Amino acid sequence: DAAMYAVKRSGRGSYRVYSPELDTNARDAELRRAVENDELVVHFQPVVGLAGGDSLSVEALVRWNHPTRGLLMPGAFIELAEETGAVIPIGEWVLRDACRQAAAWRAEIPEAEPVRLSVNLSARQVMQADLVETIRGILDETGFPADRLVLELTESVVLEPDELTVSRLRALRDMGIGLSIDDFGTGYAALSYLRTLPVSTLKMDRSFVTDIDTDPDAYAVAEAVVRLAQAFRLHVVAEGIETADQARCLADMGCRYGQGYHFARPMPGDALAAWLTAQRQESVSFTR
Ligand code: C2E
Ligand code: MG
Ligand code: MG
Ligand code: MG
Repeated sequence: DAAMYAVKRSGRGSYRVYSPELDTNARDAELRRAVENDELVVHFQPVVGLAGGDSLSVEALVRWNHPTRGLLMPGAFIELAEETGAVIPIGEWVLRDACRQAAAWRAEIPEAEPVRLSVNLSARQVMQADLVETIRGILDETGFPADRLVLELTESVVLEPDELTVSRLRALRDMGIGLSIDDFGTGYAALSYLRTLPVSTLKMDRSFVTDIDTDPDAYAVAEAVVRLAQAFRLHVVAEGIETADQARCLADMGCRYGQGYHFARPMPGDALAAWLTAQRQESVSFTR
């Protein structure tokens, strides 16, 4: 398709043909090589109890330690990986690495024992016929307990779940794995899926949190999301809490869990293990 091509000027008087498709293929190949060469890194961000006393969890977030471009955030490569399918080997690598690290904390520090591990799962992964077997294999291999694992799904997964997807999610639930809906409120899914799918938690998107401490309308909307979660008997986690005021507002409206820079940024595994130890020793509640 001629319209897809552009002739790009590369240097003085020389031209080369540039195609977005070739570019995608090259970037996809680079990404798949990165998985094989162990260039990916998992960082972990805590989720805390807003009113104190609740057990902690940590979310695994992938980064790419690129040989020339430095540490890349998922925003720079996950979308492409979703498109090309590279997110399948990436996701498997992240789950294995996160479970391996978390199993090591459990063995080494008593504070880590009750901590849950959340891992993001892409829509592409959920559509894989061997999803359940893959996850079971990784849990066996790493020794991480299924009932401490939570998988985060976006609303795109649940938009029109076919029977096979639903049965895969039920099989995961039956193994003791928790399922949560990530970025809740940003998709266009009907709410009925909350009754049919074995979901345990909603993660309220950061966009609902941003202005709650200054804008009464924003406060009311966030409160409605919390009430909705309660009506479906789901846990609710607020994302992107950056200030103490936001944390207090959320605790006041009955939101029990939160995540954000106000509490802790995503950090490498060794830093997270140290954070967990310090946290339990202090045993403080963050907001009251
Ligand atoms: P997410 O799962 O919703 O993760 C939360 C994102 O918000 C993370 O960005 C985190 O660093 C950021 N964040 C946390 N607290 C705050 C805050 O207080 N303020 C602000 N402004 N941001 C905050 P990150 O690590 O860049 O990841 C972005 C997205 O990439 C994730 O959003 C998730 O959708 C995706 N992602 C990350 N790791 C994986 C993975 O292993 N597999 C898949 N499929 N997707 C992943
Ligand atoms: Mg997430
Ligand atoms: Mg999220
Ligand atoms: Mg998000």
